[in-house]
Amino acid sequence: MSATLAEIKAAIRDIPNFPKPPVIFKDITPMLQQPKLFRAAVDLFVDRHSKQKPDAIIGIDARGFIFAGAVAYQLGVGFVPVRKKGKLPYKTVEETYELEYGRETLSMHIDAVKAGDRVVIVDDVLATGGTAAAAAKLVEQLGAKVAECDFLIELKFFAGTAKLAKYPVFAALSY
Ligand code: AMP
Repeated sequence: MSATLAEIKAAIRDIPNFPKPPVIFKDITPMLQQPKLFRAAVDLFVDRHSKQKPDAIIGIDARGFIFAGAVAYQLGVGFVPVRKKGKLPYKTVEETYELEYGRETLSMHIDAVKAGDRVVIVDDVLATGGTAAAAAKLVEQLGAKVAECDFLIELKFFAGTAKLAKYPVFAALSY
């Protein structure tokens, strides 16, 4: 692991039982507060896609936006938000998926991507993979292709890559 990646890891704190037991929440805010580390984390994603630029970077509500917007800006490509149902103002496509307790619905504007586009999905944490898989299905509903799913953190215990087996997956840090 590079020295900078180790510094990023050291600046992510565990919050036990947040938002409820038995979740150990990965709090990235101490890392975001350090300009060098935030920039390095964004660059990890940018460097993967600077040669073959995607048509858009898809950020997942809400912490995915922090990285996806910066990556899109740096690559000079568009940013697309995938949001929880009821937050986007225009017509949307929707995907509902199962959580451990209950269900969640994600939505994306119907004109956010076009058929044939290649897009990259970005989020902070990969756990079960349900969220990113739903985002990928939204992209596919509109005929676009997921070039890669990128995460700062993968929680291996939840085996989330199984739900994303159809796509290339990159995670900067594994726990
Ligand atoms: P999943 O759908 O199970 O892969 O969960 C991923 C989504 O939930 C991401 O949008 C994460 O921001 C959030 N998430 C899941 N588990 C954690 C965790 N332990 N710490 C912080 N965020 C998490």
